[in-house]
Amino acid sequence: MSLVVKKFGGTSVANLDKIRGVVKRVSTARSSWERIIVVVSAMAGETDKLIRFAHALSPQPVGREMDLLLTSGERIASSLLAIALDAAGIPAISLTGGQAGILTEGAHTRARVRSIRPARILKELNGGKVVVAAGFQGVDEFDEETTLGRGGSDLTAVALAAALEADRCEIYTDVDGVYTADPRIVPDAKRMEQISFEEMMELASLGAKVLQARSVDLAAKYDLPLVVRSAFDEGEGTLIIPESTGIESPAVRGVSCDSKQSKLTISAVPDRPGIAAALFGQLAEKSIMVDMIVQNVSENSLTDISITVNSDMAQHAEQIMVESNESFGGATISRDDDIAKVSVVGVGMKSQAGVAARVFSALARSRINIMMISTSEISISVVVRQADSENAVRVLHKEFIG
Ligand code: ADP
Ligand code: MG
Repeated sequence: MSLVVKKFGGTSVANLDKIRGVVKRVSTARSSWERIIVVVSAMAGETDKLIRFAHALSPQPVGREMDLLLTSGERIASSLLAIALDAAGIPAISLTGGQAGILTEGAHTRARVRSIRPARILKELNGGKVVVAAGFQGVDEFDEETTLGRGGSDLTAVALAAALEADRCEIYTDVDGVYTADPRIVPDAKRMEQISFEEMMELASLGAKVLQARSVDLAAKYDLPLVVRSAFDEGEGTLIIPESTGIESPAVRGVSCDSKQSKLTISAVPDRPGIAAALFGQLAEKSIMVDMIVQNVSENSLTDISITVNSDMAQHAEQIMVESNESFGGATISRDDDIAKVSVVGVGMKSQAGVAARVFSALARSRINIMMISTSEISISVVVRQADSENAVRVLHKEFIG
């Protein structure tokens, strides 16, 4: 029997009218699909409001309580949608992440999906119901509520689609597909009809929040047909496909920007073997993911090491560096939150030389200072001042895409 998973983001369920709009779409979809699972995010703004409330009450809210608090947003949206579907004569049931069988590891606020126990969903689908699953959440082995990190409802949708062998997973959002850059920053960015998993993964992990990176990774693993479409119109959207096909790939397929980055610098550390190992060992032990690393060799056998981390982790990373610094002696630690990472992505880079040179000269012509550089096989990233970041995206988009 055919099965589709449709995920509606926060703006797509932002108010009662929008929820009625989702009911219409589900109603239409019933003529093409035998079984439908809908995954919803919290109504737009709801999660941020709950986070604000918690931080107003405590400087460091307990992770477990934050998880329980935040899962309520998706539950509200899913029950309201189930109520609205029912009122429209469409049998439906809403399920929490735990009820939907999403089992995760224990880590609060950024749990990983361990497995899916599909019995309950299957029972409801077999009973002829549309299942409305609350996104972004699961339960751990002790039945504690967990959340999957920002954008986690995308992961819920893909994980359910993969586990239940859905024919397709559709992500409905406030843009009508994946663009060559965030259309809020670049008004003449172009919608792509297709993009490869590899390029989408790179764009997403470098800041294009239209899809959560982990969800793209999982969809690729299961070869799951994944589509990004508008919740508000009927367009085809963008299909994420296994490989770039046909014609040669352009050097740059898209440009992305990540403002949630912080730079930490440890200055004047002794330039001798083992220092970096000690420092990064400490960070790894505390699960801090280090993104870029730059070392400047300086005079007098002293050196500077700069790293970037996600700004959510910056304070913790700084604290660890200050502590490990005590054993190095004499070094100073500084932190800079006013940075952003701008990246160009494309599989065509593998076979075309000179992309980096074009990135640097385009930015130089616009007098945008580059603070750090990193590359992968299919991307080039630069760190710039936050105030320069949107302009940098526009400049690079113009240079490579037009
Ligand atoms: P949802 O709440 O539906 O999950 P998100 O806000 O997470 O929606 O993602 C949609 C937003 O992603 C768009 O409004 C757009 O501003 C942003 N975005 C960033 N990069 C891109 C891109 N390359 N293509 C399309 N949208 C992008
Ligand atoms: Mg999202």
